[in-house]
Amino acid sequence: MRVGAIEAGGTKFICGIGNEKGEVLDRISFPTDLPEPTLEQAVAYFRDKDIEAIGVGSFGPLDLDRSSVTYGQVTTTPKPGWTGFDFVGYLKQNFPVPIGFDTDVNAAVFGEVKWGAANGLDSCVYYTIGTGVGVGVYAEGNLVHGLVHPEGGHVLTRRHPKDDFKGTCPFHGDCLEGMSSGPAIEKRWGVKGNELPDDHEAWDMEAYYLAQALSGVIVLLSPKKVILGGGVMHQKQLFPLIRKQVLQNLNGYVASPAILDDMDNYIVPPGLGDNAGLSGALALGIEAASLAI
Ligand code: ADP
Ligand code: ZN
Repeated sequence: MRVGAIEAGGTKFICGIGNEKGEVLDRISFPTDLPEPTLEQAVAYFRDKDIEAIGVGSFGPLDLDRSSVTYGQVTTTPKPGWTGFDFVGYLKQNFPVPIGFDTDVNAAVFGEVKWGAANGLDSCVYYTIGTGVGVGVYAEGNLVHGLVHPEGGHVLTRRHPKDDFKGTCPFHGDCLEGMSSGPAIEKRWGVKGNELPDDHEAWDMEAYYLAQALSGVIVLLSPKKVILGGGVMHQKQLFPLIRKQVLQNLNGYVASPAILDDMDNYIVPPGLGDNAGLSGALALGIEAASLAI
């Protein structure tokens, strides 16, 4: 089976071809432009590739409600030109094959459950900490959409006592994304995160905010695994800091050996590394083919 996969990011698109084993056989990448010229490139890439389904993990927000007349569209994104773009419709017009469509982070968590760090588990939460902060949720064996879809980057946070940074979120100021995204780190400290030394106080502060969100999601959803990806999480020293802070926040309350004794295997980087997004899109395409949607 040959399946097309699209990881639609705000800055770049990655398109690939894969099979049902999760192997990515070929890929290309190009900058994200206005919707039509961008999708034209994707269509041209897939045109002669003999694909039987397509999976898309996209930046959002998206309409994922299959009963809605605007299903498959990008909704209120600040990204110029994309609001109201009919992503699924455009692909369907060019390729009358089953199309799986979800958020980039739901795609990533799905890929991790199929082939990565959460392989075989029926619940997992995936955070990406990059230009924005996004959360993909897999629970009871299903991707979670709910009313719209999870937007866990925008939970409110308790401010670090030494932090007077006002936050970068245009909607909420000091929400999780406003305080912990890559741009928030850059704005707070005046340099990009990758230029800060490993022992800089920025990382304790970063762990403080991320651990708040994780402690919240652990008590709220009781995930069996928490995966942290995205550019900022290339700072590997964050992992021990976050685990320690989460344990401190929970204070022994969640009585699971996974948390109390095995934290190193509970809060982890993506097993698929930077391929989590494209592999996840591939997984969505395979699922769409199996459901013939
Ligand atoms: P995107 O979110 O656009 O898909 P990324 O996940 O790579 O892409 O996130 C980009 C953000 O992550 C930028 O703000 C960048 O400064 C930050 N970032 C990328 N690499 C690192 C790194 N090694 N250390 C700290 N921050 C990083
Ligand atoms: Zn926000």
